[in-house]
Amino acid sequence: MAYDILIKDARIVDGAGGPWFWGDIAIEGDTIKAVGKLDVEAERVIRAEGLTAAPGFIDPHSHADAVAPVFPELESLVMQGITTVIAGNCGSSLAPVNPELREIMEREAKRWLPPELEIKITWTTFDEYLTEMEGRRYGVNMAHLVGHGTIRIAAMGYEAREPTAEELEEMKSLTAEAMEAGAYGLSTGLIYPPGCYAKTEEIIELAKVVAKYGGIYASHIRGEGDTLLEAVREAIRIGEEAGIPVEISHHKAASRKVWGKSAETLRMMEEARKRGVDVTCDQYPYRAGATSLATLLPPWAHEGGMEKLLERLRDPELRERMRRDIERGLPGWENFVEELGWENIYISHVQTEKNKVVEGKNLVEVKEIRGDPDEFTSVVSLLLEEDGAVGMIIFAMDEEDVQRIMRHPLQMVGTDALAASPRGPMSHGKPHPRYYGTYPRVLGRYVRELGVLTLEEAVRKMTSAPAQRFGLWDRGLIRPGFKADITIFDPDTIIDKATFENPHQFPEGVEYVIVNGVVEVEEGRLTGELGGRVLRKR
Ligand SMILES: [Zn+2]
Repeated sequence: MAYDILIKDARIVDGAGGPWFWGDIAIEGDTIKAVGKLDVEAERVIRAEGLTAAPGFIDPHSHADAVAPVFPELESLVMQGITTVIAGNCGSSLAPVNPELREIMEREAKRWLPPELEIKITWTTFDEYLTEMEGRRYGVNMAHLVGHGTIRIAAMGYEAREPTAEELEEMKSLTAEAMEAGAYGLSTGLIYPPGCYAKTEEIIELAKVVAKYGGIYASHIRGEGDTLLEAVREAIRIGEEAGIPVEISHHKAASRKVWGKSAETLRMMEEARKRGVDVTCDQYPYRAGATSLATLLPPWAHEGGMEKLLERLRDPELRERMRRDIERGLPGWENFVEELGWENIYISHVQTEKNKVVEGKNLVEVKEIRGDPDEFTSVVSLLLEEDGAVGMIIFAMDEEDVQRIMRHPLQMVGTDALAASPRGPMSHGKPHPRYYGTYPRVLGRYVRELGVLTLEEAVRKMTSAPAQRFGLWDRGLIRPGFKADITIFDPDTIIDKATFENPHQFPEGVEYVIVNGVVEVEEGRLTGELGGRVLRKR
């Protein structure tokens, strides 16, 4: 019989971590049917001499759900070899929805999109959301976590307080509904409103619900800078008390004061594992992070959501209080300005044409360009002029920590990205280069050039490790019976091209990307075919 696709004469790095071997891979439909020296016929033969065939990369930390409804192609992800993402991270998912807050959620969702695009939220429950998403194909497979922040908003709005007993019950039942529908776990974003208003006990209660369904707890922890160690301790405690696996998201030591402390956080994870707490982490391979500019403001300023924040920014007295808090700090709050300095905070995207000049500039430069008296004034003015929709990039990490975390066996590679394209509306702004370059950068820079990891170990961290972590039991390895998600690259040339100045560039050296048996990248170019589906945890 003839197979659909035969990949011939590849060096196969199968994702399990063992040494590469020569072999062929036969695909029928969406499944790998045979691996080894194959003497078979196929409709289509991909000659892979000189190339490495690996399982498609599985991104354990994605925000692709924030753009997938309007940009299903997810080009910057596919072109770096990703075939599956875990979306719904950092406490934020697109469901469940409180019908009364639907319009506010749509407005929030719009902040991450170019001005001409918007997401229509037609669903209420997590199941309705997944059903809606299932109506089409995507560039990559999409598995979802349910966001704690989203659940909290659905149950109690943007309130800066503890939930009442009834509200907590409501949050638990929304969590259960999401897990029943096929979520893979719960995510938190404990520096963002409203996640930052939640006490540890609240999260433990919800994590216990998720644990019953065999899900995972993934966390953007309460601090990655000066409060890093306490924040890691809290994540481990949640795992211990709820009896749930813990994924520490985009792990880093993000302030000068904690540079070097990754040695300690990794030791904490090892010790927790000895006690039986299943904790791991993921990481993107850069010294800078990215989030929204409003994150520079103290937690109280965010109560009630973005509209309220903008209202407070218009009030001179409250504005002065924010300025004071930034100058002096608040207990337990991750104060980026104090930790990093204005010069290390860059504007990544704005919405209006007139402010495009500040994209790619740091806040000291922004102040000068605008002629503002100080940087705080620039932040306030930009947020007001842009209706809150301003992105920032922060240079916060030390290369030694980046490499120490990367080398550790508990680390896996993730993007923390939405998705973009070098053409069309999705080419807006200057997004973090991780949108385009994460995986090729690890394989080119950290494997080939710096020798931080072996090729086989790097591929394991990109494939079977996240597959096992999130329970994607038929992906992440090249084995007969597994889904035909395959990335074929040239280990001698693969490299990221996206930079902070010029991020909208596909990497080099990724030759073929196959998603569920559909060839999406051929000889380094997008074919326009989409094979990715929405996955539900069973
Ligand atoms: Zn995050």
